[in-house]
Amino acid sequence: MEIVSLRPNVWVLRGGVNLGALVAEGEVFFVDAGLDEGPARRLWRWAEERGLRPRAAVLTHAHADHFGGAHFWEAQGLPLWAPPLEAAMMRHPLLEPLFLFAGASPHPELLAKFTLARPIPTVRPLEEKAEELLPLKIVPLPGHAPEQVGVAVNGILFCADALFTPEILAKHPIPFCHDVAQALKSLDGLGEHEVVVPGHGAPLEGAAVRAAVRAFRTRLLDLLEETEKAVSTPRSGEELVGFLAQRFGAQNLNLVGFLLARTTVYALLSFLVREGRAEAFLENGVLLWRGK
Ligand SMILES: [Zn+2]
Repeated sequence: MEIVSLRPNVWVLRGGVNLGALVAEGEVFFVDAGLDEGPARRLWRWAEERGLRPRAAVLTHAHADHFGGAHFWEAQGLPLWAPPLEAAMMRHPLLEPLFLFAGASPHPELLAKFTLARPIPTVRPLEEKAEELLPLKIVPLPGHAPEQVGVAVNGILFCADALFTPEILAKHPIPFCHDVAQALKSLDGLGEHEVVVPGHGAPLEGAAVRAAVRAFRTRLLDLLEETEKAVSTPRSGEELVGFLAQRFGAQNLNLVGFLLARTTVYALLSFLVREGRAEAFLENGVLLWRGK
């Protein structure tokens, strides 16, 4: 894990998840906490070594790989902020495995740290009080998660999982998505920032930002198109996961990977239903989807 300077006052801790450190007048704000306490502790020590006082952290969304380490900062008394619905999930992290398992008592594999973080009881809801976080600008970027935000400062946007770069899409061809229409809309403004730091993978600058945005938009649209083609024959949601996994080269999904992809498939179906392009129906007690 290396800590890289992107601008004199903007740093990123590169790892499985990128963490941000934004310095202003002897204080430092953090963006995201990583999967476990290792990255959060590392960034805290880095700040101490430089004589910087940690002021607050913004947790972009309630996926365990982004806030799993926040309990370390909480134990140091650092104020933690997250959008209201995401904050509620951080206070009750069982909600993540619960929704991945359709509301039922989750399969044990969903109770590992990748999908079940420790609770963060003190996280505060980010509403109008963003002045406490000045000079940061909070940018709503819903779609990957219901209320995901990004953090902008000095021409740099930490966009969390609003953008999966080609490097990440090669590993995860069916990216996790909660709402396809919102995800597409959230991509619109990303190209305005000189530098974009995605939640995973290398920071991007200039033309590389715009190329990655185009590639991710294309992937979402291709997933929609293939889903629409697939439901020209009625299929269940779970069959559709298999169909898309074949099409996009994601055949080696494990149980958790399958359930994450299933949420994306339901987001695609939900989009098509709202557009009047698909419908759900029951046949012999099985829930199926077909084109309209
Ligand atoms: Zn995420």
